[in-house]
Amino acid sequence: MSIQSPSTIASDERRQSPSAAPPPAGRLNPAELKIDLLCSGIRIDESCHIDEDGRPLVRTRAGLGSGLEMIISGDPRDLWVNAPVVEPFVGKTSFRLQREASGYEVVDQRTACRYPVRLASKPGWYDRRTSGGALMSRIGTLQGTCLSIYIGETCRFWAPDHPMNCKFCTTGLNVGRDEEAEKSVEDVIETALAAKAESGVTFVHFNSGYQGTRGLRKVFPYIEAIKKRVGLLVGVQFTPEQDMTLYDEAIRRGVEHFSFCFEFHNLEYFRQYLPGKTALLGRDMFFRAMEYCSRKMGRGRVSGEIIAGIEPMQDTFRAIEYIVRAGAFPLVCIFRPLIGSEMENYPPPAYGEMLRVFRHVYRTCRNHSLPVGIAPNIKVSLSLQPDDTLYLATGTLADRFYLTWMEILRKAMRPYFARRMRPRLQ
Ligand code: SF4
Repeated sequence: MSIQSPSTIASDERRQSPSAAPPPAGRLNPAELKIDLLCSGIRIDESCHIDEDGRPLVRTRAGLGSGLEMIISGDPRDLWVNAPVVEPFVGKTSFRLQREASGYEVVDQRTACRYPVRLASKPGWYDRRTSGGALMSRIGTLQGTCLSIYIGETCRFWAPDHPMNCKFCTTGLNVGRDEEAEKSVEDVIETALAAKAESGVTFVHFNSGYQGTRGLRKVFPYIEAIKKRVGLLVGVQFTPEQDMTLYDEAIRRGVEHFSFCFEFHNLEYFRQYLPGKTALLGRDMFFRAMEYCSRKMGRGRVSGEIIAGIEPMQDTFRAIEYIVRAGAFPLVCIFRPLIGSEMENYPPPAYGEMLRVFRHVYRTCRNHSLPVGIAPNIKVSLSLQPDDTLYLATGTLADRFYLTWMEILRKAMRPYFARRMRPRLQ
């Protein structure tokens, strides 16, 4: 099969644009609502006071967190969502955010269903400065309940003389503009201490773009300092290394989680949309590193990250199955055509298609008894974690067994995580 030109792929997708998706039959459960909001976005009614009640809209890292952070009420758990608001496709959404006397509501104008939500509040520490003078919100931001920090220089795939950046990404437009280009260990520690004390953060996620070979070394001083002086669970997302001993070293220093963004399972889409990753890394390098870390750390500790809504559905399904078989958990991002990216004019995926994807995530994790959602207070807003998809269970015996097993595991693991979140020097 030949590589399709962007325009061919774009017209394929246009056939499954949100306007072509059938409206939901009735009330959506929290996971369904989250999926639909991520696909369609939300318009903000003038009754809303986002500046006073919500977190500012910020574009950091790849830019995916550029939306409005909200919490969807649910039983047994609330779900966090970062709903697109600024991209042009949001003009067609059926969702509207309104402020009522009782609080905020998402109104679905197709069905007239109203969903109570809360806006994620702006942390007080966002406006404070570190002792080095940096604004803390330019060091790290909250995405869901996780502290997200970009480490290292701007991804080298954004080199102006020879750009090879991933086509959906806007990192090169954000680092140095909406966040600090250089982050000292001290700046990061002070920000993390504030986020832990005031926002109850349990997990810090360090990510980066391509930093050259052995780029992973750049994060080592930050991991060590967080473990010694703050006491948080640490996740790392860098491009993969050839030298697997670097992962051993990172694990020794205290990393609890690695994620590997290979984005597309289909090699033709991988080559077409990820020119830098194709030229300098290759998809199999992501696979090798993910499989190695998964073997080393244990099942459910590593994630494989993909984007749904660009490559054919059957490839997304294959990617999910491959990741779970490797003992990792699939973190599936719904494609968002970000303003400023090369794909800004592509249509977002259709809700019905994405619902099928996340039902597949749930079933695959359950069928392989993959432990998900075990670590405390990790709520992701940019995508659906596998434990968000528990709302898509249909109540079979296998579902009930899986959910009960995970509840037991969650309780049994509490002392382990409490130990891991103790600063080592105190
Ligand atoms: S590797 Fe790709 S997605 Fe990551 S920062 Fe670089 S260009 Fe963006």
